[in-house]
Amino acid sequence: MQHDRARATLTPENDGVIASALPAETNGLPNPGETHRISSRLFVRPGRWAAGWLRAGLHGAIGIVYPPSCIACQAATGEAQALCPACWGAIGFIERPYCERLGTPFSVDLGDGLISPAAMADPPVFARARAVCRFDGTARELVHRLKYGDRTDLALTMGRMMAQAGRELLPDAGLIVPVPLHRTRLWTRRFNQAAALAQVVAQQSGVALAPLALARIKRTRQQVGLTRAQRADNLQGAFKVPPGARPQIEGRRILLIDDVLTTGSTANAAARALLRAGASAVDVLTFARVVTDGS
Ligand SMILES: [Zn+2]
Repeated sequence: MQHDRARATLTPENDGVIASALPAETNGLPNPGETHRISSRLFVRPGRWAAGWLRAGLHGAIGIVYPPSCIACQAATGEAQALCPACWGAIGFIERPYCERLGTPFSVDLGDGLISPAAMADPPVFARARAVCRFDGTARELVHRLKYGDRTDLALTMGRMMAQAGRELLPDAGLIVPVPLHRTRLWTRRFNQAAALAQVVAQQSGVALAPLALARIKRTRQQVGLTRAQRADNLQGAFKVPPGARPQIEGRRILLIDDVLTTGSTANAAARALLRAGASAVDVLTFARVVTDGS
């Protein structure tokens, strides 16, 4: 395989320069079955190390390769932006058979196109949800690192996996919209993980990205520990399409992006706001989703 020239990425862990090769073709999505290698060219953040190298006139700094490590556990790996075999094996990939609406896996294969009892009893506002994997093991570690560890480079790995998991949704999508954070939370965290993932999915798929088409207008409580009813109540009126963004939404099928789908309350509230603004339908793509027995 041909590779482009390496680009440098700084990570908080090593505060150093990692050179990673990038596949020449842009549509080469990772296939979970055959490769763990995912390269990075996004979120290049020059820091004092890079500045120091440049000051020293070491123009070859970009080619210096630090020993690559697993993005989840830091064990040595053959390539940068990769998962070690143990962490890869601890990802619970979601594959068919699953509920066509909720994307929750069925334990028994009864054929394609089935809707789960949960989706029939309580139909979601969104049309279809898909996720790369279950929210446990390695997936939980990656989501946590992306959200709280300032590991923006992880978004490339996770976003590429999402583009693969969303391959049925992306051809129908007219616009990609991330689940927004409230501005005060964005200010304290400085980083919206859903927006970072959406950027990668858009880049991978070629579908247009509208990062500001949905706004979080209510500062909601943390959803953790709330019941399903409390979550829905907490999110009542939380999202709105700003008047200026309505022309982007009207008549289009929207692909909503988030890092994790838990009960679906957030996705439903966001989907409701998009449908009110004239979206023809809303699908949901997340990196991970909570899967409980019987769901
Ligand atoms: Zn690992």
